[in-house]
Amino acid sequence: MLDLTRLHLSIKPELDEAISRVIGKSSFVLGEEVLQFEKEFAEFFGIKHAIGVGNGTDAITLSLAASGIGQGDEVITTSLSAFPTAEAILRTGAKPVYVDVDIFDLNIDAEKIKSAITEKTKAIVPVHLYGVPANMEKILEIANSHNLIIIEDCAQAHGAKYHSRYAGTFGLAGCFSFFPSKNLGAMGDGGMVITNNDDLAQMIRSLRAHGEEGGRFCHKYIGFNSRLDGIQAAILRVKLKYLERHNFERQRIAEFYSNELADKADYFLPDPWLRLGREHVYHLFVLRTVKRDELKKFLAEKGIQTNIHYPLPLYCQEAYKIQQNLPVVEEVVKNILSIPLFPGMKEKEMQYVADCLKEWMPSPV
Ligand SMILES: *Cc1c(COP(=O)(O)O)cnc(C)c1O
Repeated sequence: MLDLTRLHLSIKPELDEAISRVIGKSSFVLGEEVLQFEKEFAEFFGIKHAIGVGNGTDAITLSLAASGIGQGDEVITTSLSAFPTAEAILRTGAKPVYVDVDIFDLNIDAEKIKSAITEKTKAIVPVHLYGVPANMEKILEIANSHNLIIIEDCAQAHGAKYHSRYAGTFGLAGCFSFFPSKNLGAMGDGGMVITNNDDLAQMIRSLRAHGEEGGRFCHKYIGFNSRLDGIQAAILRVKLKYLERHNFERQRIAEFYSNELADKADYFLPDPWLRLGREHVYHLFVLRTVKRDELKKFLAEKGIQTNIHYPLPLYCQEAYKIQQNLPVVEEVVKNILSIPLFPGMKEKEMQYVADCLKEWMPSPV
């Protein structure tokens, strides 16, 4: 699905230098490299604050908790995402309320949010799944008219844009993961919250470090231990410089697949994103076919690794199951298949994937 070794070897001298720099200074948790990375990350997004945290899940949990969300509150989110989206909401003590997905972009169906709102609803957590921004115009409209905050889950959408504006800059906060496989990945865990809100930024800074505020060893809140470490920050500073180039490469591979398989259009997630003002950063390239399981097996026999993101709607996960029946997501999880796409992928590798798909194609979709 992806080859991180190849990617990292191509920039190894820079990474070595960054790691050595941290060893030279011994500032391993937070510290100077984290401050620099926070500054550069905020500059990239044109936003006031960036707060480095332990991982993407904590970025969401801390943003919600710092906004005062917890026990007794409801948080609306999509029914199709990585489990951490739900877990982050549950960790605050709030209850996730799942909305069906839009058949077109597989993000939360903004038209269906309204009917999920109750007097307990405090926030909406849209996810920009696979790297394509959710329908933020509609989501903002609903949030504003119901006085709800928006915390964006951008774990798969570093650098994605909605009408020329970065995903993560629409809500009260944008939450990023630097898990190694993400579009911007560390060599371990890491996460970031971005926001223009001074109070929220201050609260998250406090909460990520045991609620410390107003002096060393003075704890104003019961917080978390969720800090970004210096080595990851130094690595991420190097990799941030390549983010746009890598995203561009992802887009080129997606374009290649789309062109190669243009006459099999039904089969693919269509690609009209730019026309719709959405810049997709292809964290994943997801096909849809009713014969998904057969195709997965066929590709595996050809030596092509694929994956299903995700096999279950969030409300079907054993950890937190609710009786719910959302028809679109239940159909979608049976049809989706992610095929290999990563920066550094070679022309002949893409061609091989495309050729195998074409070989399989004659069967009706
Ligand atoms: C990866 C991911 C997360 C969690 O990030 P971690 O850094 O692994 O905690 C949350 N939401 C989505 C959509 C993700 O893909």
